[in-house]
Amino acid sequence: MFAHFPQPQLAGPEYPATIGILRPALHTILAEASREAGVSIRLGLSVADITQDANAVEVEFTDGTRGRYDLVVGADGIYSHVRELILGKSIQPRYVGQIVWRANLERPPDVTSISMWYGPSNKAGLSPFSQQGMYLFLTQNVPTPTRPEQEQLPALLREQLAEYQGLVGEVRERITDPRQINYRPIESMLLPSPWYKGRYCS
Ligand SMILES: Cc1cc2nc3c(=O)[nH]c(=O)nc-3n(C[C@H](O)[C@H](O)[C@H](O)COP(=O)(O)OP(=O)(O)OC[C@H]3O[C@@H](n4cnc5c(N)ncnc54)[C@H](O)[C@@H]3O)c2cc1C
Repeated sequence: MFAHFPQPQLAGPEYPATIGILRPALHTILAEASREAGVSIRLGLSVADITQDANAVEVEFTDGTRGRYDLVVGADGIYSHVRELILGKSIQPRYVGQIVWRANLERPPDVTSISMWYGPSNKAGLSPFSQQGMYLFLTQNVPTPTRPEQEQLPALLREQLAEYQGLVGEVRERITDPRQINYRPIESMLLPSPWYKGRYCS
């Protein structure tokens, strides 16, 4: 073993120290909490334009409606349209030279917290997200990001895992369904300050 990090069970002994969460489950929790808090949520539209005067920000939406707000916060991800409207196109995400694989799999009982292994040419890990499920992840150096066909992903991922034994080697052969695999470039972006302009920020 290379290193073992203490993982205190901060939420209580009945809860694991670390666990992954699937995005739909996180979305459900956040959406329910937002609705309970009385937040007005509108789906299926975006921001078309933003202007501001001394007292408020005026937002035009893609469905033609408009609104005036005290403050606008853009939380629309790494390719934020709001950021572009406020700060222009000069600041863009940068590919860091690695892609990350993730595959949702059945959880063997002995996978109870996040673990990582260093292979000869890449790093792999297992992360449980429920009593039944876990995901396997693997980071791979790829100088120029590629986009393989979804159908090819199981065989390509098994190839990347070929040199692993133990738990990772055991679960490798269960990677057969292209729908269980997510393949993404890792991108980075550091936005220089200030992150705002008047009454809107990104
Ligand atoms: C497969 C995967 C696994 C990951 N695992 C981890 C992990 O284990 N730990 C970790 O810390 N991070 C992880 N990350 C990274 C993490 O998900 C991101 O850092 C985080 O989601 C960024 O949050 P955000 O709110 O800035 O953007 P996002 O989560 O991308 O949210 C942006 C939202 O804005 C919406 N949106 C985008 N453009 C518009 C528009 N023009 N109009 C209206 N809405 C728009 C999108 O639909 C989305 O709902 C993972 C990412 C991926 C893809």
